[in-house]
Amino acid sequence: MTGRVLVLGGTGEARRLATALVAEGVDVLTSLAGRVADPALPAGEVRIGGFGGAEGLADWLRASPVRAVVDATHPFAAVMTASAARAAEATGVPLLRLQRPGWSEQPGDDWRWAASLAAAAEAVAGFERVFLTTGRQGLAAFAGLTAHCLVRSVDPPEPPLPACSTVVLARGPFTVDEELALMREHAVEVVVTKDSGGRLTEAKLTAARELGIPVVLVRRPPLPPGVPTVATVEEALAWVRGQTR
Ligand code: NAP
Repeated sequence: MTGRVLVLGGTGEARRLATALVAEGVDVLTSLAGRVADPALPAGEVRIGGFGGAEGLADWLRASPVRAVVDATHPFAAVMTASAARAAEATGVPLLRLQRPGWSEQPGDDWRWAASLAAAAEAVAGFERVFLTTGRQGLAAFAGLTAHCLVRSVDPPEPPLPACSTVVLARGPFTVDEELALMREHAVEVVVTKDSGGRLTEAKLTAARELGIPVVLVRRPPLPPGVPTVATVEEALAWVRGQTR
C-alpha cells in the first residue's frame, strides 16, 4: 500500500493500529498531544504537539499529504475529535474514528451516570471517602469537595485539587487485587471514573462490585456526525486497506 496514514493517538488502540499497519508495510505517522511526560511510543514515526485547532490540522494535511487519517484518540478527547472531523471535511482527506466500546453494567454493580465531571462532583457530595480516577485534567470540577479524595493519575495532577487529597501517581493496567487493596487501604466509599471503556482500566469496576460500593461514571461526549466509526483495531485496519486514493 502506498501513501502515509496519520493516526491521532494517545491510546492503546492507536499503538496497536500503528504496530499492525507498520507490519503491513504502511508508512504510519502517529500524532501525540504531548500531555504525558513519558508516553508509551508506537511503532512507526511519531510527532508530538497540537496542530493549532481544526484550521491548523487542515493546513498540516494540505502541506503533508496523507492517504487517510484514523482518529484513535481517547473517547474523552472531544476537542481533537471535533477538529479532525472539521479538517477532514475541509480537505477531503478520508477520516475514520476508532473508538472502543464503553463499559456495560454487570449484575451486582451500582452505577450512577453523570453527564459531566461537574455532575459527577455533585453525585458524590454525600460521601466522605472518594476515589477519583478521572485523570489529572478536569480535577478542578471536584475542588469544592470536602470529602477525603484519593486521586490517581499517571503524571502529577493539575491544581486545584480537593482540599483533603491523597495523590497516587501510577500508570495502569492494575489488577483487581491491586485495586481491592488500594480501595481497602483508603476506605474508599465511591469511585468516580470516565466511561473510557477497555480492558486496561476496568479492574477498578470489578473491585468496586466486589466491595459493594457505587461507581459514578461520566458519560462520553457525543461523536461528530458524519464520521464513519469503528470499535476495533481490526475494523480500522480493514478500512485503511480500502483507502487507496
Ligand atoms: P482534547 O481535549 O481533545 O485536545 C486538546 C488539544 O490537544 C487539541 O485541541 C489538540 O491541540 C491537542 N491534541 C489532542 N490529541 C492530540 C493528538 N493525538 N495529536 C496532536 N494534538 C493533540 O484531548 P485531551 O483530552 O487533552 O487528550 C490529549 C491526549 O491524551 C489525546 O491524544 C488522547 O488520546 C489522550 N488521552 C486522553 C484522555 C482523556 O481522558 N481525555 C485519557 C487518556 C489519553 P490543537 O488544537 O493545537 O491541535
